[in-house]
Amino acid sequence: MTVKSILTEPNKLLRRVSKSVEKVDKEEQSLMDDMLETMYAANGIGLAAIQIGVPKRIIVMDLSRDKEKKEPRYFVNPVIQNKNSEKATYEEGCLSVPNQFAEIDRPSSCDVQYLDYYGKKQTLHAEGLLATCIQHEMDHLEGILFIDHLSKLKKSMIIKKLSKLKSNQIVI
Ligand code: ZN
Repeated sequence: MTVKSILTEPNKLLRRVSKSVEKVDKEEQSLMDDMLETMYAANGIGLAAIQIGVPKRIIVMDLSRDKEKKEPRYFVNPVIQNKNSEKATYEEGCLSVPNQFAEIDRPSSCDVQYLDYYGKKQTLHAEGLLATCIQHEMDHLEGILFIDHLSKLKKSMIIKKLSKLKSNQIVI
């Protein structure tokens, strides 16, 4: 397992639409292992493959927030159905939009169909933080970031801030 570097906005790759996985093979499993390791190292609760530069429809998540009892979840080719018309609001952040947070409204529950780590078909009913997190990660597969749900003004302020930070970074 390898900790990969996480792409941050602005970056064109983050805007790419990810491709479906034809078969969950060793290559995909090792990608999922790396993604999980990367997510844990960055203290995140969810990560999409495109965030480490791989345009495949794969998401990993762990909402347990418990270092002893890890509860990794793997979603390959996830599809969301039955979005609740009721909305829930969470303050969201994103490993690709460092140190920025904003309240986002999303359907409060949904069902997700996906393939698991072993390529087996699964269905999940998601509510609360799980529902929000899966929808946030699904957005990544479409090249959408949580800041795209904000007003143009708020979004451009955040992007400006991030671009400025980037231009001050030096990589040695
Ligand atoms: Zn994110």
